[in-house]
Amino acid sequence: MNNKLSRSPRIVSSLEKYDIRTFMDVIFHLPSSYLDLSYTNEYELNTNMKVTILGRVISQPTFFRGPKVTVVRFQIESAKKIIYKVIAFNQPYLLKHVEVGKLYTVHGTINLSKYEITLSKFVTGELTDTAKFVPIYRLPKQLKNHEFISLVRRSFPKVTIPNLIPSELVDKNRLLSTYNALYRVHNARNYEDVALGLRTLKYEEALSFFTKSLLIRNENSALRNATKTMIDLKAANAFIKSLPFKLTAEQIAAVREIGLDMNKETLMYRLLQGDVGSGKTVVAFSALYINYLRKAQGAFLAPTDALARQHYQGMLELFAPFNLNIRLLVGNLKETEKKAIKKDLEVGLVDIVVGTHALFSADVIYENLELVVIDEQHKFGVNQRNKLLNKGEKADLLLLSATPIPQTLANTIYGDLDITTITTFPFAKRDVLTVIVKTEKEVFPKIDEALRNGEQVYVIAPKISYGERVNVEQLEKIYFKKYPERVTSLHGQLSDEEKLVSLQSFQTGEKQILIATSVVEVGIDVKNASLMVVYEPMSFGLSSLHQLRGRIGRGGQSALFILVNEEDEEKLSALVTESDGFKIAEIDLSLRGPGELSGVKQSGLPPFQYVNIIKDLNLVKAARSDALYLLANESNLEVKKYIDILANEIKEAVTING
Ligand code: ADP
Ligand code: MG
Repeated sequence: MNNKLSRSPRIVSSLEKYDIRTFMDVIFHLPSSYLDLSYTNEYELNTNMKVTILGRVISQPTFFRGPKVTVVRFQIESAKKIIYKVIAFNQPYLLKHVEVGKLYTVHGTINLSKYEITLSKFVTGELTDTAKFVPIYRLPKQLKNHEFISLVRRSFPKVTIPNLIPSELVDKNRLLSTYNALYRVHNARNYEDVALGLRTLKYEEALSFFTKSLLIRNENSALRNATKTMIDLKAANAFIKSLPFKLTAEQIAAVREIGLDMNKETLMYRLLQGDVGSGKTVVAFSALYINYLRKAQGAFLAPTDALARQHYQGMLELFAPFNLNIRLLVGNLKETEKKAIKKDLEVGLVDIVVGTHALFSADVIYENLELVVIDEQHKFGVNQRNKLLNKGEKADLLLLSATPIPQTLANTIYGDLDITTITTFPFAKRDVLTVIVKTEKEVFPKIDEALRNGEQVYVIAPKISYGERVNVEQLEKIYFKKYPERVTSLHGQLSDEEKLVSLQSFQTGEKQILIATSVVEVGIDVKNASLMVVYEPMSFGLSSLHQLRGRIGRGGQSALFILVNEEDEEKLSALVTESDGFKIAEIDLSLRGPGELSGVKQSGLPPFQYVNIIKDLNLVKAARSDALYLLANESNLEVKKYIDILANEIKEAVTING
């Protein structure tokens, strides 16, 4: 059997860019949407609706060439004797193609006042059933959609996919086999097929998520720390009093709740949630201080180097009045430096270590790790939660989450965690105005104004520009020209060292404009920044945009968030009217059409690939109660096998879901 994906080096190498290397990878690369070309009921037309009409051409096509466009026009008549005008922009070949008297299928947007269809797809003759519903794949641009479709077709006979879900649950939930579910999604004839196939994949994902969460929780609560030192929480006041600002009542309540939990004999397993800017960091620092008072080590995990460094700086400042030994452990330190830190950790010379996943690595040994804090926890998969925890035999865990979700939903998704929520902000109101502008021209006067006021500006572009129009490097050129001496940027071509220098020059205020991708979404705190401009905002999820918006106005000043988008988008307007992070996540999920996968990560929610937490809540609840059932029935061999596989995945996990 030939195991190469394709004989074409172009296809093989472009697929590699998307990490697709095996037939199995092909099959797990699901359509991102579908093109529904089923014929429209002509008695149910609405204006601006996408229609597919079968009709005979009744007029000789005409042609017009303008400076920027070509236009072909002709008319068709359907079997219902309805006549439609068809207008096709920039498809001059149609002129030769279209023959009077012949039958064609046209697809496009209809303007009912003129009965005119703006053509987007044109097919000779009548569509076959399989041609009526076409899966659309997200692909590198060197690869055509139809090429991937035929690759999918060739891949199915080459794979076998084991069914892991215990048969009892398969029957109870009327699931398909995983193979059949995937087959349906790729070969759907309509949206019902898509939903049917996805339902099984979603259930499998949710069941695995909850079973793992419960396994971790059970393992954790089986550990008791009888030797824990109890702390008189009043002692923590020394830290709170030393801060340069007064904590809000909710921050104090959160510190207290966490402190009481740390004082219990069982281990803490707690989520601290609060919207972006609500001041979770200093609450976590207070917990680290309490942990220090009980003479134990603490570890603070962040998803990016930049954020780890920022927290390290923050700790040096806020813990300055106390005699703590704080270290930074990130990937790009010199080996000798790393070695020294590891040695000090092992012999107990370090009180707090802050870093990225370098903290997980096997050769990091702690003398007495008793508190683990994970910032931006949604950036880490459920497997990783446990990774660091295992470093201390009796460590309390505090997870920080940037999107506060309503209690009932939180209980469903995070039923294995205790939850502390901060609902208020340190400043009376977060004064960020959001506007959508059509062109870049409207942006520059605002930037000039911010610079005149001595304020700082973020300019954000997508990592991969869908339109190929805007990326960080291109913007860098434009902005360097306009604002020489003031601009710095963070892009893929820079080395880690250069990125660091660039970010620092913005953090210190030496440079006033930072051009970057959404890497700044997580946690970056530059109080003087009051303006953010986002190019191609539709390339970001709404929640990401909300997190980005949380980067400005952090000093309590009024701030402006500008989205540059030519077209009107319902989605974006949600950001103008809504400032509550969870509501935004909810709107984002509920605006997704059928067949659209969750895909884009929702900050604050678990990184589900298939499950849409809002729309699939019933299925999620069923999976959760099934997970509880599984853990109570481990004597069943099938159940035991499934649980063993998941337990093993938790153990083996080393990578981070970024
Ligand atoms: P997040 O919850 O998004 O992680 P941070 O912890 O980064 O938010 O806090 C946002 C900003 O508010 C930081 O600049 C922090 O120093 C500041 N801050 C936090 N608590 C207070 C407070 N009680 N009073 C004034 N400023 C505060
Ligand atoms: Mg934060």
